[in-house]
Amino acid sequence: MSETVKAILDRKGREVVTLAPQASIGEAATTLNEHRIGAIVVTGVDGAIVGIFTERDLVRAVAQSGAGCLTQPVSSIMTSSVKRCSEDTRVNELMEVMTAGRFRHLPVEHGGKLGGIVSIGDVVKSRMSEVEREAADIKAYIAS
Ligand code: AMP
Repeated sequence: MSETVKAILDRKGREVVTLAPQASIGEAATTLNEHRIGAIVVTGVDGAIVGIFTERDLVRAVAQSGAGCLTQPVSSIMTSSVKRCSEDTRVNELMEVMTAGRFRHLPVEHGGKLGGIVSIGDVVKSRMSEVEREAADIKAYIAS
């Protein structure tokens, strides 16, 4: 069985880079670059998830509005209906949700709060380890 989101977060940590909806798109670009990440979760004053802003959204904003978009708020371009997962979600399900929704990031909700984020990179890493484990098990079985 594929591993859980909890196992991924126990390894990589639960810190999530967030911005307020009124932060500018320019600020979001700087944040993405500084942290070397592809997505920022946009949160309200109560810490609730109100949107997600990714490098894809930045490209779209610049293509549509030019450099002028950099002073606009992230809320003007972010995706508001954010798909989330829980710590119990398994990697197989993450792959299905990301493929169906055509996105590469899933915030994790834990006890009603933002409790981490998983990316397509985490999914690929986990799947590779699983495939390697399976191959080692099969080799050990054949040898025995
Ligand atoms: P990505 O592939 O993650 O860079 O995202 C591609 C598009 O999907 C962008 O417009 C994002 O705002 C949006 N997106 C990313 N993650 C999610 C998510 N978990 N739920 C809904 N939309 C998302």
